[in-house]
Amino acid sequence: MCQYEVIHFHCGHAGRRLIKHCHFARNDPNHQCFGAWSIKREWISANQLCQACGQQQVLRRAQQAQVRI
Ligand SMILES: [Zn+2]
Ligand SMILES: [Zn+2]
Repeated sequence: MCQYEVIHFHCGHAGRRLIKHCHFARNDPNHQCFGAWSIKREWISANQLCQACGQQQVLRRAQQAQVRI
């Protein structure tokens, strides 16, 4: 069981981040794990967007900048 943390972003989405590979995944050449995930901590990131929403915001800002020109 690898250890994960769950992050709840400002946009309402949640992301999963690896904390530590388990012994099995560490020894696997591709770091694959066939066990269940173990969520070690869960926290709220108040000012941060998830990766997808963050990229969308950058695109939207770029489009708005083009309209102004
Ligand atoms: Zn594992
Ligand atoms: Zn999001």
